[in-house]
Amino acid sequence: MNIITNFEKIRHEIKNNLPQNEVNVIAVSKTFSIEHIMPLVEYGHKHFGENKVQEAEKKWRELKKTVTDLNLHMIGRLQSNKAKKAVEIFDYIHSLDSEKLANELSKRQNEKNKSLSYFIQINLGSEEQKGGVEINELKNFKEYCVKKLNLSVLGLMAIPPNDKNPEKYFKRISELNKKFNFQHLSIGMSNDYLQAVKYGASHVRVGSAIFGSRN
Ligand SMILES: *Cc1c(COP(=O)(O)O)cnc(C)c1O
Repeated sequence: MNIITNFEKIRHEIKNNLPQNEVNVIAVSKTFSIEHIMPLVEYGHKHFGENKVQEAEKKWRELKKTVTDLNLHMIGRLQSNKAKKAVEIFDYIHSLDSEKLANELSKRQNEKNKSLSYFIQINLGSEEQKGGVEINELKNFKEYCVKKLNLSVLGLMAIPPNDKNPEKYFKRISELNKKFNFQHLSIGMSNDYLQAVKYGASHVRVGSAIFGSRN
């Protein structure tokens, strides 16, 4: 298992299929040890994704002090009581999905004089177990985050329902992203990143296709 070969293969595949698209591959390193991840850091890759605040802090805090241009993306569900710690370790939050969380993140980033970048997560399939705002709440929520709190919201994020046909969901979120005038879009994982890029993904979140399967 060579994670650099895997990573380069994905990058080339995206470039060959859609050369006009500017795509950030976020290497999702959740559950893997820093020793396993390190070759890709040393290779010069700058964008990594984690889904738990505590795990991210433990793994990345020291390294971020020496590799100062590393960008950490929070892609998992975030509780507002963890916002303070999240603001300390992360640069991007892909799971912004409630006013309570937005308020807390805003307060904490202002205290730290830091400005994170955000994606609003939407619950495309209205699945109860998944985070994200409902599509009909999106307009108000965007205005609240952008106008009231002044958060830097880059675009939408979603994890489509697991039903083997992500394309209809990608199409839907891509239309919404345009309608709301966002410039960035966070969709696509190991199994569907090429389809996601076809629908305008600017950020794909790829874990197992780079680092191997998780236990
Ligand atoms: C784990 C995770 C990924 C990466 O999943 P893979 O299938 O391993 O690529 C992407 N997005 C989110 C939100 C995740 O939790």
